Amino acid sequence: MLNSFRLDRLITLYGLVPFLSHQWARKPFLPILMYHSISDDPENGVHGYYRLNTSIARFREQMFWLKEHGYATVNLAEGLKYLKINNTNQIGSDQNRKVVLTFDDGYADFLTNAWPILAELDMSATVYLPTSFIGKQSKIFKGRKCLTWRQVLELYDQGIFLGTHTANHVQLHDLSWPDIEKELLDSRRCLENQLGHPVHEFAYPYAYPSADHSFCKRLNTSLQSCGYQYGVNTMIGTVTYGDDNMRLKRLPVNDADDMTFFKAKLEGMYNWLETGQKTVKAVKNLIHF
Ligand SMILES: [Zn+2]
Repeated sequence: MLNSFRLDRLITLYGLVPFLSHQWARKPFLPILMYHSISDDPENGVHGYYRLNTSIARFREQMFWLKEHGYATVNLAEGLKYLKINNTNQIGSDQNRKVVLTFDDGYADFLTNAWPILAELDMSATVYLPTSFIGKQSKIFKGRKCLTWRQVLELYDQGIFLGTHTANHVQLHDLSWPDIEKELLDSRRCLENQLGHPVHEFAYPYAYPSADHSFCKRLNTSLQSCGYQYGVNTMIGTVTYGDDNMRLKRLPVNDADDMTFFKAKLEGMYNWLETGQKTVKAVKNLIHF
C-alpha cells in the first residue's frame, strides 16, 4: 500500500544509518519523545508519518519496552543535568538511560489512557497545554476532548510535569512579535495561576521554522524574556550536551511506530532525518510520491 510506505523507516532500519549510528551514539544523548493523543480512534487516510494518535495497546507496548530496557523517565531539567554530568562518559550499556516523555495539545485521553499505564510502571511525563483550550468544562481541539483544569491539577498533584504550548495553539511564525510574546506570556501566567507554581517549559506548536534563523534567534530571546528556561519543538533528533535549551529536538512517535522502529528512534538512528530542511522536505515529497 502506497499510503503506508515509510521511506524514513526503510532508511532508518536498512540503510547506512545502523552502521553510522554506532559513531553517533558514543556520547550520552537524551531522547525526548513527542506524543499527542493516546487513543484507539482511527486516523483513516493519514500517512503514518503525520498521525497524531498512538493506540493504547501500542503505547503500553512502548512503555513496557522502555521499562524493561532500563530507561528512567525524567523531566527536561533532570535530563539535561544527566547529560552535563555524564558528558565525558561513553555509553556502554543499557543501564542508567534517561528518556523524556512529552505530550502536546492537552488531550483528555492523556488522563484516561496514558496516565494509568505510566502510573502502573512508575513513570512520569510532561504535558504541554494550549491554555485557552483548557477550561472548567472540557473543550474540543482538533476534534478531541481536552483536559479540564481540575484534571490538570489532579495530574500535577500526581507528579506530571506541565508546560505551555501557547495560549491559542497558533502558528507563531505568522504573528507579529508583540502578539507572539502575548501568546508566550499569557499561557505561562495562566498555567502558573492555576498551579500556584512557576512554569518554565514551552513546546512550539506546528512545524518549527528552523530555516528562518532570524526568527528562531528572536524567539529564543522572547522565550527567555517571558520567563521560559526550556523549549522543545518539532525538529527531529536526540539531545546532546551543549544543545540550545530553547530549541530542543524531539522524536515524534505515533501508532505507526512498531517496536523495531521505536527502538531505532531511541538509539539515535532516526536523527539523520533532521540533517536540514532540504532533507526533510525531500523525504516528505518522496513518501507522498
Ligand atoms: Zn500542538
